[in-house]
Amino acid sequence: DNAPEGTVVISDIQTAGRGRRGRTWMSAPGLGIWMSVLLKPNLHPSQVQTLTLASSVAVIRALESLDIEIPGIKWPNDILIGGKKVCGILTELSAEAEKVEWVVIGIGLNVNHDHDDFPNDIKDIATSLRLSGRTQEPFNRSEIAAGIINELEAVYMEFLEKGPGWVAEEWKKRNVTLGKRVELVSQTGVTEAEAVDITPDGRLIVRYDDGRNGEVLSGEISLRRTNLTV
Ligand code: ATP
Repeated sequence: DNAPEGTVVISDIQTAGRGRRGRTWMSAPGLGIWMSVLLKPNLHPSQVQTLTLASSVAVIRALESLDIEIPGIKWPNDILIGGKKVCGILTELSAEAEKVEWVVIGIGLNVNHDHDDFPNDIKDIATSLRLSGRTQEPFNRSEIAAGIINELEAVYMEFLEKGPGWVAEEWKKRNVTLGKRVELVSQTGVTEAEAVDITPDGRLIVRYDDGRNGEVLSGEISLRRTNLTV
């Protein structure tokens, strides 16, 4: 509705949280940061995946100042602690052929959840900041949300100035995917490969077992297992 760039919407309760390809994002009331940020970057649509990487760099930078176990980024932009997902980021956009009209970065961060606050089907794969904290005391969600917004602004400005190569390097410093064996799960099946590198525009470079290299786009693939523990 013509909201200006930089508009941030944060909700205490989210009843229809979404992941990729119609998956559900569990958003327990009052326990997390469920936030959307509107950007209107002057970018070609093919560069938006870099913005997705940039968002995960911003969130992880904000988390690095907290007294928690070390977080890492799973390609393209999930944030894990001890191998479990603490934050999911979903980028949605509207674009014409050559130009992005808007991008909404949706961030779901589990903050004060206890084990029992997660539904059974994600209990083993999800964690929260509180569960990863040294004291297990609750965190102040407003302070953390403010930290994420500040980092997002800083990383976004630096990305526009320095370009995708800079974002890819920042991302690599904090990733837990490269150098690992992964399963590439797509509509057509599951393939094992080694995650080798990312391209500046955010594609994952993999080496298949027959020695061939390939590039993978995040819209097409989910990464599973193998050994993504930080
Ligand atoms: P995957 O994590 O399997 O690679 P993905 O990155 O595409 O998939 P998303 O679409 O970002 O996943 O997120 C949806 C998935 O995340 C769900 O299918 C569920 O497994 C998991 N999930 C849902 N809610 C939460 C939550 N609050 N915390 C952690 N994980 C969650």
